[in-house]
Amino acid sequence: MTPLADLLARRIAATGPIRLSDYMAECLLHPDHGYYATRDPLGRGGDFTTAPEISQMFGELLGLALAQTWLDHGAPAPFALAEPGPGRGTLMADIWRATRGVPGFHAAAHIHLIEASPVLRAAQARALPSAPVTWHDTLDTLPDAPLFLVANEFFDALPIRQFTRAGAGWRETVVGLKDGRLTPGQTDAVPLAELAHRLADTRDGEIVETCPAARPAMQAIEARIAARGGAAIIVDYGGWHSLGDTFQAIVNHRFADPFAHPGQADLTAHVDFEALLTALPCRHTRLSTQGVFLERLGITQRAQALARQMTGERLQMHVAAHRRLTHPAEMGTVFKTCALYPDGAPTPPGLEP
Ligand code: SAH
Repeated sequence: MTPLADLLARRIAATGPIRLSDYMAECLLHPDHGYYATRDPLGRGGDFTTAPEISQMFGELLGLALAQTWLDHGAPAPFALAEPGPGRGTLMADIWRATRGVPGFHAAAHIHLIEASPVLRAAQARALPSAPVTWHDTLDTLPDAPLFLVANEFFDALPIRQFTRAGAGWRETVVGLKDGRLTPGQTDAVPLAELAHRLADTRDGEIVETCPAARPAMQAIEARIAARGGAAIIVDYGGWHSLGDTFQAIVNHRFADPFAHPGQADLTAHVDFEALLTALPCRHTRLSTQGVFLERLGITQRAQALARQMTGERLQMHVAAHRRLTHPAEMGTVFKTCALYPDGAPTPPGLEP
């Protein structure tokens, strides 16, 4: 049993089963035993890898897309260059390097990183040694300024609640104890106003997930873009409309039982972009797949330019990284991209209104 499993088991024995969202929040962010709070899970020695860790091309293209949007919107100065969930800081470091040559961009930018993990904050500081950076616990404290934001694999880490349709009501997934071990179970079915709209498109036994923390995070972003201008590019795995059980654990690049290693596995769920993009005070683009988005931004030309200086194993890895980011059988289709932008402003590059 992990130390966190022990702690949660005692809590559940004392006060009863806990919601899946509470379980996920404790597993990821418990100050002493949480997965992100205690380690750097990314990169070669870690449990999983992400697009910016696979190739510098991802951050370079996102950075230039963001800088082009900034120019298209009249180069507002000063502005907040922000990223929630920046991991090791690789994406922001690539964005910062790629935008060096954009006249006025660095002079007008202040970087704002929203990060819950002290371990990863330290990694981010190392990745951005000479850039102007402020850290935040939540998106709520971002400055009241034009906001140019990227988020890659942030929303999938936010805790979800999970409901199973039962007649006109819903059973909620909770974590309880069976023979002293953490075990998923379900509450009795109750009608839920917030899921009333899903009664029309689900059948008995089907699963719907919600992400309570996603709305306040989106509100902090969309309110600034609507009032002060800017744009947000969001990349994550998921789709339009939540249906089915997408709660998953990854340990050492493999799927694992999400209840077996609390605090020692990465827990995520697919992002429901429909819920993220509902009732916005600003515009949003359509969802594009990551592969199509990166191709539109010119990843093939960038890959060819970088390949000219490479040989042997380095070249092979570079070709594999391009494929991994864009190919439908790899990250190209599962990952989706969309952007928020103000009414009346041009659409960010690589995306469709
Ligand atoms: N964007 C990075 C890392 C993705 S991993 C990349 O693409 O490589 C998820 C990141 O979100 C980590 O940095 C994690 O510590 C952070 N995170 C998770 N939950 C968070 C929360 N509630 N508030 C702030 N950051 C959070």
